Order: sequence, then structure tokens, then C-alpha cells
Amino acid sequence: MRFDLLIKGGEIVDPATGYSGPGDVAMRRDRVAAVARDIPSESAFRVIDASGLLVTPGLIDLHAHVWHGAGYYGIDADPIAAASGVTSWVDAGSAGAFTLEGLRRYIIEQSQVRIAAFLNIFCIGLVAWDYELTNIELADVALFEMVANRHRDILCGVKVRMGATTVGSNGIEPVRRALQAAERCDMPIMVHIAHPPPGIDEFLPLLRAGDIITHCFTGLPMKLFDDDGRLIDVARRAVDAGVILDIGHGAGSFAFKTAEAALAAGIKPHAISTDMHQMSVAGPMFDLPTCLSKFLALGLGVRDVVAMATEAPARILRYEDRGTLRVGALADIALFRLHEGAFPLYDNTGVMRTGRYLLRNVETIVGGRVLERSPASPRAIWAEHWDRGGTNARMRQFQCELVARGHTPEQMCGCGAAASG
Ligand SMILES: [Zn+2]
Repeated sequence: MRFDLLIKGGEIVDPATGYSGPGDVAMRRDRVAAVARDIPSESAFRVIDASGLLVTPGLIDLHAHVWHGAGYYGIDADPIAAASGVTSWVDAGSAGAFTLEGLRRYIIEQSQVRIAAFLNIFCIGLVAWDYELTNIELADVALFEMVANRHRDILCGVKVRMGATTVGSNGIEPVRRALQAAERCDMPIMVHIAHPPPGIDEFLPLLRAGDIITHCFTGLPMKLFDDDGRLIDVARRAVDAGVILDIGHGAGSFAFKTAEAALAAGIKPHAISTDMHQMSVAGPMFDLPTCLSKFLALGLGVRDVVAMATEAPARILRYEDRGTLRVGALADIALFRLHEGAFPLYDNTGVMRTGRYLLRNVETIVGGRVLERSPASPRAIWAEHWDRGGTNARMRQFQCELVARGHTPEQMCGCGAAASG
């Protein structure tokens, strides 16, 4: 029996199986059917020439916001997935108990790419940029459990955002309630960190093995490292206890200095995720391959960064048939070109590091189907034009500067290719 689709002549990087090197990947229906050094072209109905390209499992983005049209953050998932190699998004708390049905019906069921969600402990989810947990009555554990039990097939945990502007005067009560919900539903929590109060020493000790700290390499005041670059004690104990570190780059939560201190101290993130949303998508975050390129610039290898966006999130989410090209796994596959040159890559504090490599997606396949590339939806009006007390305006100005300098990934892969040629 012939294969439906064959990816031929690429360089396979599959950290989950350890396959690394030249090889072909064949698919039948929605599954990987064969992986071998040489699979004849005649054995498939359709062949994609992958010469010069990396062939990896489809990327799994552990932290994104894809509820397009229903709030401040959400982006349109499919066009961005098709251009970046993401085959599974995890929406991190855009929906709460009152609004999850809508995320399911209008986004998850309509999208070509796979989407799961962390359900916000706040009943309404992320409609505005902040303030969601300032009214603690709207973090209802019993309601969370009732709704979660109807949607367990699309849920992977509980989201809670901890910081002065999200919890107001409620201290650590939101994270307590998130943990109660997590206990009742047997799920992990994902906790966002930003500005105190509360202090992280008040709530990191509550986290359990398998719970996730997102924005783990933030430069903001809740950062996990002291000014000398040492992992602070309370964070060390959390990591030793099995708490998971997730990047969640976003628009304000990734700092090269923190990342360099962490790597120097031997602390690697478990997962690299984007925190893709209306603000971060225009840079300097841009997309998941650009985030992976920043970790290449920090000295990690291609296999490491691919593992952190495939095998690792699959393990964290207990996906047995994703994040790998193992025969029988879902045929979720991404093709990348690894441009070589000198690429200016920025964090959210304006610090730049020059990367030797820039990873750019060429083709994205979900369940054996090549995703069609289509123009990204226009950004939200507020993301382009609204000056929210200065913060948004400064970010917008930085994004415009990146364009003016020619430092967006699209602009750079032209000059990068030329530089390497
Ligand atoms: Zn987020």
C-alpha cells in the first residue's frame, strides 16, 4: 500500500526517538507510517522535497493566546501556525468557566491546528489586559470543577496570573484557589509571574511537582534569580521539587540577562513557549522559531531547542502521540530552514544578542495535511494604535524601530541567506 505523503531528503531532528540525521518520513492518513534513511519516491502519492531543510515533529506551544476576537490578547491561530511550524497550541487562560464553551465552539472546533487550554481560575478569562483576579468572588473553585469536568478532552490545567496588577489586594488567595481546583480535577497549574506583591516567596512553596512557572526567565521583579544571577532559594526548592520552567516570552517576560544567568547556573528551561498574543506577535518575540533561535544564540544546540518545543511539552501535557516522529504518532510535522549569518535578536528589555542561526518555517503539516499559508489577520486596533498609559506606545515604537532597522525575522532571513552564501 502506497503512502499518502512522503517528506524526502531532509535532515530529521526527532529528540524523542533520538533519530538525528538524513532521512525520509512517510505518512498514511493522519499518522506517521515510516521513517528511514531512504524511502523510494514511487512509494507515495505525493512527495515534498526537503533537501536542505530540517524535518522536526510539529511544534507544541505550551503558552499562547488564540481566542481571536474575544478579548485583548487573542491572535488568529491558523495563519500563524502555518507560517511557524506550530501544530499544537495551548491557550493559557484566555477562557474561564463562563467562557470556555465559546473557546471550544468558535476557535478549537473551527481551527485546522490542534488547540487545548489551561482554564483560567477567573470565571471570565482574559478579556482585558489585567485586573482579572481583583474580585476574588469570580475565582470559584466549585464552578471551575463542574465546567472542567465537561471539557476534560480539551483541558490541560489551571491558569492563574500572579502579580500586583492582576490580583490587586487579594494576595495569594488566587493561587490557593487555583491549586484547590487543580487538586479536585487532578490537573497541574500554570502560574504567571510579573510584579509583586505578593512576593514569589509567598506562593512558590505551594507549587507541586508538575506545576508550571511561566515567564521563568523574566527580568521583571518577580524574577527567579537574584542580582548576582543566582537562582533564589525558594525557586531552587521549587525546581528540586519537580516544578516545570516554561519560557512564555510574551511582550515583557523574557530577558537575555536572566537567561544567561540561568544557563550559567546550569538551569535550563523545560519548555520554550511564545506567550503569543496581540502585543508580542509584532516583536521582539515574533514567533516560536524566533524564540528557539534566541536559545541557539545563547549556546543551546538545535536538538536541545527542538526538544524544548516538541518532546518536552508533549511529556508535560501527557501527549503520547505528539512531539515525535515515531511510527504511529500523529503526522504533525514541521520543515525549517536554518539560515546562517549574523542575526540581531532582541529580548523585551531592548537587549540584543547576535545569533549565528535563524530558524524559519517552510512547511507545516497537521495530521498529514499541509497547512495552507494565508495572510495573518490584521492586528487588533488597540495593538496598533491605542496608547495605554504609555506602555503600549513604547512597545509599538520599539516594534517600529525593529522594522526600520530591518531586524524582523522576515527581513533578516533575506540578508542572512545572503550572508551565508
Ligand atoms: Zn500569557
